[in-house]
Amino acid sequence: MENKPKKPTPTLKRNEGRHQPASERVNNFEEVALGFSYEEALVEASRCLNCKTRPCEKACPVNVKIPDFIDMLYKEDLKGAISKIYETSLFPAICGRVCPQETYCEYACVLKDKFKSVSIGRLERFVADYARKNSLMSLPKCDSHTGKKVACIGAGPSSLAVAAELVKKGYEITVFEALHKYGGVLRYGIPSFRLPREVVDFEVENLKKLGVKFIKNVLIGKSISFEELKKDFDAIYIGSGAGLPTPLNLPGENLIGVYSSNEFLTRVNLMSAYKFPEYDTPLYVGKKVIIVGGGNTAMDSARCAKRLGPEAVTVIYRRTRAEMPARAEEVENAMEEGVKFEFLTAPISLEGDEKGKLKAVKCIRMQLGRPDESGRRKPIEIKGSEFILEADSLIVAIGQSPNPLIQQTVSGLKTNKWNCLVVDENQKTSFENVYAGGDVVRGGATVLLAMKDGKAAAKAIDEALRKK
Ligand code: FAD
Ligand code: SF4
Repeated sequence: MENKPKKPTPTLKRNEGRHQPASERVNNFEEVALGFSYEEALVEASRCLNCKTRPCEKACPVNVKIPDFIDMLYKEDLKGAISKIYETSLFPAICGRVCPQETYCEYACVLKDKFKSVSIGRLERFVADYARKNSLMSLPKCDSHTGKKVACIGAGPSSLAVAAELVKKGYEITVFEALHKYGGVLRYGIPSFRLPREVVDFEVENLKKLGVKFIKNVLIGKSISFEELKKDFDAIYIGSGAGLPTPLNLPGENLIGVYSSNEFLTRVNLMSAYKFPEYDTPLYVGKKVIIVGGGNTAMDSARCAKRLGPEAVTVIYRRTRAEMPARAEEVENAMEEGVKFEFLTAPISLEGDEKGKLKAVKCIRMQLGRPDESGRRKPIEIKGSEFILEADSLIVAIGQSPNPLIQQTVSGLKTNKWNCLVVDENQKTSFENVYAGGDVVRGGATVLLAMKDGKAAAKAIDEALRKK
């Protein structure tokens, strides 16, 4: 156990947590946000007013009992605090790191406008890390076997949530994953400097200890058909995510040096290209890298590219910083690390040399017009404002849509116009005993929402299979 220091003096000032200095962290893939020390966590917890109306809790998609866990932390009841979080959430060390708290709980915190919100996310992370490192939580007891089998397609957070909930209820769970490692985007998309791999491993290992069976390198719809799966299992959960890249559809997109963010991040994060030649994954970025997009994927791509050592990394985004969908903290981190931004800018063509290698990107300046159907102001080209940016590589990070294999190989499974699976309020698809959730339904959302869908589906599967 860590030494507990004397109770610190309460303060009004929000603690933003310690970070690896930008000049150091651009040379490594170690975690950037260093979290709170025990004392810092207590001081931050002392800022919470324990509001009776619980606005932060209401704003959380899974209604984590925030005032209660912070109060327990403040009273140094760490075991109580982690148990309180687990009452409604499943992976607090992950959510505490990557959940966009600034739009959920911290946005609703009553201290936000005058004193800045309580650092709820960092406190959640602290409690979860402390509990993990000090083995405060023992594995839950599982109910006796029901004799029923459930298959989960994909090993992302939504399937992991289904597995975690149902294994405790006595179901035999098998998770089928197309890749050679588990965690979905938590493994191949979000870089280790935002989410250390031991945090994801811990959750997967715990599920294995509870009896969940994981099978890797299996593509459902190809290696095993959906029909075969239906014969062998009483229920199926589809958590296949949204990993299909959206192309720019511009001339020159096939040039050497042009990557989808999915390919680029997978090579870096899953296949350890940043450790080349120790790992046999070469990845050419050259001296000048351009990233197109403004979401978390664009920020992760830019920050990974920066760590591969080019002279310049530039993000081009067609709206302004205010409209960027990426977490504000990640945009700031990228800026501190020296990533440049060209706002109100869009690419119009990619130009190559005689060997078919990218050499420049023709861009145009934009201005914001009236709001479009998304509610955001529509970017409009400014005629005659074209200009050239030199580039050796370009990463396209403008959105992803559902992995299409299951939709293509299973006839009759209802989808919408974006190829997302259609589900009812219990996450049930148009097929009996087939459920779905996470990005394959939402078309690209958040870890917390994927987990929430998984929990809801697990409840519905349990109810349905008990009646059988
Ligand atoms: P995924 O995590 O995509 O997992 C799906 C899994 O299914 C994959 O492992 C895939 O290989 C597997 N699979 C697909 N098809 C098959 C098949 N036919 N057979 C077997 N396996 C299959 N959210 C946040 O909350 N905060 C963030 O900071 C954040 N950053 C992000 C950064 C990046 C780069 C990306 C891409 C996304 C980010 N997100 C973030 C979004 C978040 O990661 C996703 O919403 C979440 O991972 C969705 O979970 P999922 O389980 O639905 O799917
Ligand atoms: Fe604490 Fe803020 Fe929640 Fe109030 S709204 S209970 S101050 S975290």
